[in-house]
Amino acid sequence: MNMMNMDFKRKLPIPMETKEMYPLSDDLSSVIEKRTAELKAIFEGESDKMALIIGPCSADNEDSVLDYVSRLVPVQEKVADKLLIVPRVYTHKARTTGDGYKGLVHQPDPNAQPDLFKGIIAMREMHMRVVKETGFVSADELLYPEHYKYVDDLLGYVAVGARSVENQQHRLTASAVGCPVGMKNPTSGDLTVMMNAIAAAQRQHDFIYRGWEGRSAGNPHAHAILRGYVNRQGVTHPNYHYETLQYLASLFAKWSPQNPAVIIDCNHSNSGKNPFEQPRIMKEVLHSCPYDSDLKRLVKGFMVESYIEDGNQPVDGGVYGKSITDACLGWEKSECLIYEFAELL
Ligand code: PEP
Ligand code: MN
Repeated sequence: MNMMNMDFKRKLPIPMETKEMYPLSDDLSSVIEKRTAELKAIFEGESDKMALIIGPCSADNEDSVLDYVSRLVPVQEKVADKLLIVPRVYTHKARTTGDGYKGLVHQPDPNAQPDLFKGIIAMREMHMRVVKETGFVSADELLYPEHYKYVDDLLGYVAVGARSVENQQHRLTASAVGCPVGMKNPTSGDLTVMMNAIAAAQRQHDFIYRGWEGRSAGNPHAHAILRGYVNRQGVTHPNYHYETLQYLASLFAKWSPQNPAVIIDCNHSNSGKNPFEQPRIMKEVLHSCPYDSDLKRLVKGFMVESYIEDGNQPVDGGVYGKSITDACLGWEKSECLIYEFAELL
């Protein structure tokens, strides 16, 4: 008999049960609501601050991630009139070939075997600690749509990655996300795929989600994220230059999305995965904006991969605060970048 070839090892708690085990207090909930409202105001053009989504490629270790996010607190206070910082606390990692560390939710200990029960709890705990201990509200990637409900009450920003953005279930789930959701350009760089994803996420949909028939509200804050691309020969190309931003503005002008907006991802294929290019890329975009009022309106902020130490290391490298996935900009350079960013606004 043909049957699904999978060992169903154990039944995991559903999101409601996990939330009963690790409830969100009213105080923390109001912190999240307020901060998310501030971010939405940026996307709506109600606030002229910019958003900075910054942090490690993967949230691989609770202590070093919390250490990193705590360092952002005094910096955020100094730039509060210009920038809204959203820490990247990515508990899920897409892998190009399926091999390697898949993120905290799979391996709460990157050097141990996968444990998805511990993983969903670790994911909830990590996002909760960010709010409780720093007052920030984190960003995560919507990599496995059915995981979102475990943390929907805790996130302030969600991204749909370059490898997921053409997928129907990701688009429909994005339409139900309660905070701003960024749709990345696909790895091939086709901007129409990204625009179609934004259109889909802004609409209402009827679909099956975690065993329920549901209707999403549509997400009016679904927007673009430009992350560079790789051509047919496997060569990396940036897509943050002036002409691409103008082209993106022309694509937005062809229809009437709510809150047209773009976040520039300064790493990945925009930097050719050289994290030290990120400050230059950010500055170039900030220099481009004043030349075209459409760009000035459209560019709402940046995404930067940053951690305590510069660069990256193998999964078992053991250096505290050093990325085990994409190479990051270390803390000192990141702190400089944030102050330079605020100066340029
Ligand atoms: C990331 O943000 O770390 C990431 C994997 O991005 P992308 O989907 O653009 O590759
Ligand atoms: Mn990355």
